[in-house]
Amino acid sequence: MASTEPAHEPEEETAVETARRQLERAAAHLDVDEGVIERLRHPTSVYQITIPLERDDGTREMYTGYRAHHDNVRGPYKGGIRYHPDVTQKECVGLSMWMTWKCAVMDIPFGGGKGGVVVDPKDLSQTEKERLTRRMAEELRPVIGPMTDIPAPDMGTDPQTMAWFMDAYSMQEGETQPGVVTGKPPVIGGSYGREEAPGRSVGIITREILEYYDRDVAETTVAVQGFGSVGANAARYLDDLGADVVAVSDVDGAIYDPDGLDTNDVEGHDERPGMVSGYDAPETLTNEELLTLDVDVLIPAAIGNVLTAENARDVQADIVVEGANGPTTSTADQIFEERGIPVVPDIVANAGGVTVSYFEWLQDINRRKWTLERVNEELETEMLRAWDAIRVEYESRDVTWRDAAYIVALSRIAEAHDVRGLWP
Ligand code: NAD
Repeated sequence: MASTEPAHEPEEETAVETARRQLERAAAHLDVDEGVIERLRHPTSVYQITIPLERDDGTREMYTGYRAHHDNVRGPYKGGIRYHPDVTQKECVGLSMWMTWKCAVMDIPFGGGKGGVVVDPKDLSQTEKERLTRRMAEELRPVIGPMTDIPAPDMGTDPQTMAWFMDAYSMQEGETQPGVVTGKPPVIGGSYGREEAPGRSVGIITREILEYYDRDVAETTVAVQGFGSVGANAARYLDDLGADVVAVSDVDGAIYDPDGLDTNDVEGHDERPGMVSGYDAPETLTNEELLTLDVDVLIPAAIGNVLTAENARDVQADIVVEGANGPTTSTADQIFEERGIPVVPDIVANAGGVTVSYFEWLQDINRRKWTLERVNEELETEMLRAWDAIRVEYESRDVTWRDAAYIVALSRIAEAHDVRGLWP
């Protein structure tokens, strides 16, 4: 397939626009040097690579890849690599900025990075994907590394992709370097609990915000859009705490049981595509109907931009917790603010993923594996620490939960820039 950039332009704000808007909103509450803010509006560097691939039929094709480095004042760049036909340089820059805020709000000593290849992975055989990944690792080798930039899986990439990447990098470096990527299979330095972590953190944060508003989790109804990795793990975590998860969905539609679904019995999309049609639930709904159900907590955990100007006024949930990245458009966000509906932002709610990636990196550079129990305990500690910091800002300023999270992130980044100063 061709390696040109797609013409596709999303109707909503781009990731860069969102990241810059959030930066500006947070900056308005802080006394930060304008030079630092201006620096954070832009990436440090963006790399474009051309990846030649020999297809299985012997023909040769070129693919375009990017790696954006936003900011590394607090530590190595960190962020996923996606394989998707809509990948653009601008999107990688925007998503790398989100990673800077996400790592900072969690107080993880990483900065923001993101990359991708303009390719539809469904068009590639497994061996083609392997060759593409190995060549990409080689092309990116000068600008990545365990102490400089640590990629991870994202859309269209998975633990196997990371294993090939790590192997290619290690072979060229002459030593096994598991810390060059995270999200690897545990047998080569991946962490236990990494897969469940983003959903688990959504569950932990939901539990905390319920407590903040004096609600009993056992008396809570929850609707989860997207019963994939994030959604299923969040739903099962809350179900285990006694919440009634009344609706879950996949791309085909939603299932609904006002008495609460047995989320451990419902199979996830990965486990069996089309689980909604296959599951015997009292009612089925559309995804749109799920978003406007009268529940206590709504967790959009599928894709971005699902809560919009069109449906935000119809949302009946009392609290929204963002499981997916960017599920709430800026207009919807404003509507929720006007309506007094708290929205816990993605950069903290699903940050369990990057947090356990950090744990994975620690295990890799120390050559010491943690048990699943230790991973989950430390994840709980880190989530509560981040939540406390956000709560302090939320309570001391008249801001939304999202603004409070960005204020925490920006103040840490700005302070680091301040004390490090400018070189030379
Ligand atoms: P996934 O592919 O495992 O699951 C996605 C789920 O959403 C599936 O059930 C799918 O059927 C459903 N879905 C897809 N398109 C839909 C649509 N148009 N309407 C309704 N449902 C739809 O993906 P995931 O890893 O769970 O990621 C979900 C979101 O969370 C994404 O925004 C992702 O960027 C974000 N996220 C994921 C991780 C992670 O490590 N998995 C970490 C942080 C954030």
